[in-house]
Amino acid sequence: MAFDYDLFVIGAGSGGVRAARLASKAGARVAIAEQVQVGGTCVLRGCVPKKLLIYGAEFSQTFRDAKGFGWTVDWARFDWPTLRDHVQAEVNRLSGLYMNNLAAAHVEVIEDRAIVVDPHRLRLTATGREVTAERILVAVGGHTSRPHDTPGQELGITSTDCFTLDALPASIVIAGGGYIALEFANIFSGLGVETTIVYRGERILRGFDHDIRKHVQADMQRTGVHIMCGSTIAEIAPLGENRKLVTLSNSMRLETDHVLWAIGREPNTKGMGLEAAGVRLTQRGAVAVDEYSRSNVASIWAIGDVTDRINLTPVAIREAVAFVETEFMGRPTAFDHADVASAVFSRPAVGAVGLTEEEARAKSKIRVFRTVFRPMKNILAGNEQRTLMKLIVNAESDRVVGVHIAGPEAPELIQLAAIAVKAGLTKAQWDATCAVHPTAAEELVLMGEPIAHDPEAPA
Ligand code: NDP
Repeated sequence: MAFDYDLFVIGAGSGGVRAARLASKAGARVAIAEQVQVGGTCVLRGCVPKKLLIYGAEFSQTFRDAKGFGWTVDWARFDWPTLRDHVQAEVNRLSGLYMNNLAAAHVEVIEDRAIVVDPHRLRLTATGREVTAERILVAVGGHTSRPHDTPGQELGITSTDCFTLDALPASIVIAGGGYIALEFANIFSGLGVETTIVYRGERILRGFDHDIRKHVQADMQRTGVHIMCGSTIAEIAPLGENRKLVTLSNSMRLETDHVLWAIGREPNTKGMGLEAAGVRLTQRGAVAVDEYSRSNVASIWAIGDVTDRINLTPVAIREAVAFVETEFMGRPTAFDHADVASAVFSRPAVGAVGLTEEEARAKSKIRVFRTVFRPMKNILAGNEQRTLMKLIVNAESDRVVGVHIAGPEAPELIQLAAIAVKAGLTKAQWDATCAVHPTAAEELVLMGEPIAHDPEAPA
């Protein structure tokens, strides 16, 4: 059967765009459909605009720190529309670059919503046109969740809305204790907004090393972010024209300008026609795929957040590359999801790779190395923020199996530490590496003695 395309990609985010370009360069006839704007979550309403807002928010601490170095900064004023509009201009510029790159790679861009009709057929919903493809790659990402049973939930906003707010609120209540909750707490509190996190568990950042969770929570509280653990938002009611009355599950009430739902993201599979085409979805509605990103239907593949494996941009890109190598370059390649580093751009920022202390302890005998110190700059600045660094070492092989950092530049540091962890280097090899002085990073190669077992560490 002759198909219209060798590959039809649904979703022009980081993963979809990379797959489309590489497949086209490998000689395939490729189309990519996008229903909103080329760029996807990372570029338009995720990593990129978030990081730019964080840069903007961090100036407040820089101005405070400057005093200890002799500067008087009494003229600092912040204008939200300026930052918001500059950020939007930048994401639009990047979206344009993505478009140019697709055009340069001779990929046909279809600005429409595509849904799957059968294993080789798609429908473009605005025009009703049907097209066929030998392979379909689903790269449609995910969307922010809302608690649909919570009365008044529609009065809350999501991270997507935060980028285009008309005005900066005076106060915000953030539901959730994960990546998005902490990063927006950093943004809003840095910009002077009274910020409250409402988290259902005992301590924020579930899944991260227990020391990191403790350190980050305590430091956020020190800088004035209110963190209420063990509760959820039970109801939101309007209060006057713009304010909201939030009732928590413990009956406590809070008045606020905005409520931000940061309670996770869900795969965008609804209404995509996937199940009708025979594609198996997981319980969470993600496309179930094998290690090569192939679904149970041989011609349909999926990469990125829609597969709900590790929901990070660089992972989606690597899955895209592996897919193209497998299908268009004759080199079956499975992306290895082990030891993927990640960063939370909270304040303090977090970088983590490999096993947490509790995960490693459950697998083998370990040695734990830990240091907590006040970065040099903070001393003159009169800034109490401390850095925590932790290495988890397999006691038998001496391999460093986990690195956890909370503090300034942790996301930058963890990228480099991840090379050593991925390469399987031993603690002796880390120690043989000469320090770079004076840096915070040098502490990573100067941790001499393992700590005694921490009785507070979860077993
Ligand atoms: P996360 O999974 O990181 O956090 C969700 C938070 O919401 C958790 O604290 C969770 O609690 C809580 N939660 C979940 N359901 C409910 C509920 N019904 N009621 C109350 N609380 C609830 O999701 P995010 O939304 O923060 O981010 C989504 C994903 O996007 C991340 O997992 C990450 O993969 C990616 N991301 C990555 C970033 C980065 O790389 N820097 C930045 C932003 C997002 P509990 O812990 O108890 O489950």
